[in-house]
Amino acid sequence: MKLTLIKPNIGRREHSLYVDEGRMEPLPLGILAALTPDDIEVVMYDDRMEQIPYDEPTDLVAVTVETFTARRAYEISAEYRKRGVSVVMGGMHAMLIPDEVERHCDCVIVGDAEPVWAQMCSDFRAGRLKKRYAAVQPSCPQEGIIARRDIFEGKGYLPITLLQFSRGCSHRCSFCASSVYFGARHFCRPVDEVVREIKSQKRRLLFFVDDNIVCNHAKAKELFRALIPLKVRWVSQGSMDMLADRELMELMVKSGCLGLVIGFESISPQCISDMRKYTNKRAASDMYSHEIAELRKWGLQTWAAFTVGHDGDTVESIRATCDFAIRNKFTFAAFNILMPYPNTPLYERLEKEGRLLYGGKWWLHEEYRFNYSSIVPKNMTADELTEISFDCRRRFNSARSIFVRAFEPHTNMRTPYRFLTYLMYNPLFRKEVFKKQGLRFGLEEAKGDDR
Ligand code: SF4
Repeated sequence: MKLTLIKPNIGRREHSLYVDEGRMEPLPLGILAALTPDDIEVVMYDDRMEQIPYDEPTDLVAVTVETFTARRAYEISAEYRKRGVSVVMGGMHAMLIPDEVERHCDCVIVGDAEPVWAQMCSDFRAGRLKKRYAAVQPSCPQEGIIARRDIFEGKGYLPITLLQFSRGCSHRCSFCASSVYFGARHFCRPVDEVVREIKSQKRRLLFFVDDNIVCNHAKAKELFRALIPLKVRWVSQGSMDMLADRELMELMVKSGCLGLVIGFESISPQCISDMRKYTNKRAASDMYSHEIAELRKWGLQTWAAFTVGHDGDTVESIRATCDFAIRNKFTFAAFNILMPYPNTPLYERLEKEGRLLYGGKWWLHEEYRFNYSSIVPKNMTADELTEISFDCRRRFNSARSIFVRAFEPHTNMRTPYRFLTYLMYNPLFRKEVFKKQGLRFGLEEAKGDDR
């Protein structure tokens, strides 16, 4: 038996390749490959950087679905089903809105696949594939499983190894799809399994793709202690409250942390309160001045993540957010439009208030484009929100801003390695800003000489 794993793109033009500048290995597919019984041949195709060979013989196809890739995932599924191949789907979007996903495949896995994957494979072989498998969230994610990274070889991914220590987060920020997916709970792998996984591969630069690696301070400390002797360098995502725990920060830095994606979200205390981002409540009241000083003291290169389009936001306040990010010389920053993911508290509120555009299902709508507002904001038009958020990305990633931000002695210029990282990745993300803006979801058919 042969299983084909697919990572869909957000969108792509027919006959052309869209190569994602931040092209990371699709870790969930490496985990699925490892969960698959040994006698099943596994191949993987990444729609972000290669053509999918629909006519290559295969028995079963598994497609991972996120809200942004749902439209494309359904197209891929339709191509295989047209050829009589069964398709199984899972991932964040399948958990958020399984009834929709179920209509586009032969089988949907709701929740993390580990508890049901082997059963699904065995049912398929016996001709008894069920329409839906509801997985009970394992308290220990990825137990005994090391992702298979051989399926990533030769695809051209960035030289950084993705892995996970924990899943979920115990906070309940109103816009967060992950909080809904995991029911505001946080699950950790045993530290010795994480160490075994790191030792199983050659790279020493790691990206822990945890939702919030410091969600549980005691467990994070245990991990960081174990990382120290491995002499790795790593990045991840974390919440601001970590800065209040000195021991945690000391261990984090000693264990090789280069920096974290941190959800600043907004510089307005009112917006922070409205979105229930309690980890930032105190910090936002004085424009994060103490926290930024601490991050510099620890020498962490910060990817500051902002969400724009909250009810308290205006065009001017969003512009001021971008000024704040440039002034504080963050290594990277994201200005994400507030996205109503299905079945999140944010989605439900905006739906009640009649403020969802594109009939609510922006991820499937023919007219929706990447980085466009899908909501009616309070203090500006949807087009103004789209434009100002693009302007923030354009300005933060301009050549002038990249030059100005480079001269931060505690972070970006701390060591030649840090400086090199800064210089390598900033132009790459700049390119991505223009490449992705306004990208159509799903397949765009080639016209005439595009072929
Ligand atoms: S802290 Fe981050 S991961 Fe946790 S609920 Fe809030 S946005 Fe989600």
